[in-house]
Amino acid sequence: MNVRTLELEGFRNYAAFRAEFAPGVNLIYGENAQGKTNLLEAVEYLSGARTHRTRGDRELIGFQWEDARIRAELESRGRDFLVEAQLLRGRRRRLAANGVRLKTAGELSQILRTVLFCPEDLLLIRAGSAERRRFLDASLCQLRPRYAAALAEYHRLLEHKTRILRDWEEKPSLLDLLPEFNDRMARCGAVLIHYRAFYIQNLAQRAGAIHAEFSGGREEMSLVYRTVSSIADPLRPSAELYPQLLEHQESHRRAELESRQCLSGPHKDDLAVEIDGRSAKQFASQGQTRTAALSLKLAERELHRDDLGEWPVLLLDDVLSELDRRRRDFVLRRIEGGQVFITCCEEDGLEGLGEGKTFHIRAGTLAE
Ligand code: ATP
Ligand code: MG
Repeated sequence: MNVRTLELEGFRNYAAFRAEFAPGVNLIYGENAQGKTNLLEAVEYLSGARTHRTRGDRELIGFQWEDARIRAELESRGRDFLVEAQLLRGRRRRLAANGVRLKTAGELSQILRTVLFCPEDLLLIRAGSAERRRFLDASLCQLRPRYAAALAEYHRLLEHKTRILRDWEEKPSLLDLLPEFNDRMARCGAVLIHYRAFYIQNLAQRAGAIHAEFSGGREEMSLVYRTVSSIADPLRPSAELYPQLLEHQESHRRAELESRQCLSGPHKDDLAVEIDGRSAKQFASQGQTRTAALSLKLAERELHRDDLGEWPVLLLDDVLSELDRRRRDFVLRRIEGGQVFITCCEEDGLEGLGEGKTFHIRAGTLAE
């Protein structure tokens, strides 16, 4: 899988941009605030119509533009694609592949997959559960279109139910709607839990092996899926999970009404990371935290390979310079094969990167 060319118009700080990339390593360097991360974000967008630092498309459109375009020629599973995204202010985005309109973001993920790794990911272990859910969701949305659809629906329902719980005292009639929302959330939530459980099972295997190699076999990392407490076995089919979710909602009905918050459901899930059986969030040292986060990300990359038979495009935003020599060498060895985009502030200082091209970015353009 490899992105051959990229064209941007009105995307963030890129008025008009075009570049041809190497199939191996693409080093993107430049000073702060010149557009390095924006460039990775454009590639990331083409793999699922979302990016790691936005909630909606609007932020991606250049301040003084009405719409933005991202266009890429790429090669995936032995075929050539021209993938296009047009982002419009106040209207729904348009996605297309080889001139044919795509209906869902999931269709993009069937063409291009990306794994992005940025400095904030190094905190994946330390942060609250929301960060780890984001990690799970980003990965699963690319891997399974059905998951992406269920997640979008779940978020819509959750938002609505949250409004009901917030306003019911002023407007008691809202409570009539609650059973319907609870039912739909339980159905949707059961799908999410089922997918998450399988994904975490696979991720745990891969990440555990990488981590063992990383730590020279001295430590053992394991992952534990923490979901709604009434779920006996999250690996069971979603039809079996659904009544268990209803049961949990029922037992939290009173607490939800009193706290005016939605307390029951997989929007509270967590992925607990343990090192030698102890919570990494609580006990891991800085070095252990980094190693664990790196192992998770590298494992994610491998799962995409298992799924597609080829490496996803790897986007490394500012991370290599943050790592010590030993970890950097480990990452570089591990990511051989496959296309990678690496951003950094200095052109030199990253030895051993392998074959590729270098791009100097200045104020949203390619500098000579
Ligand atoms: P750093 O090395 O600090 O990470 P960077 O090169 O990665 O810098 P980017 O995050 O890509 O920088 O951002 C470059 C610039 O793009 C910033 O100055 C930011 O204000 C600008 N920018 C962000 N969104 C938009 C937008 N929608 N329209 C125009 N400019 C934007
Ligand atoms: Mg940046």
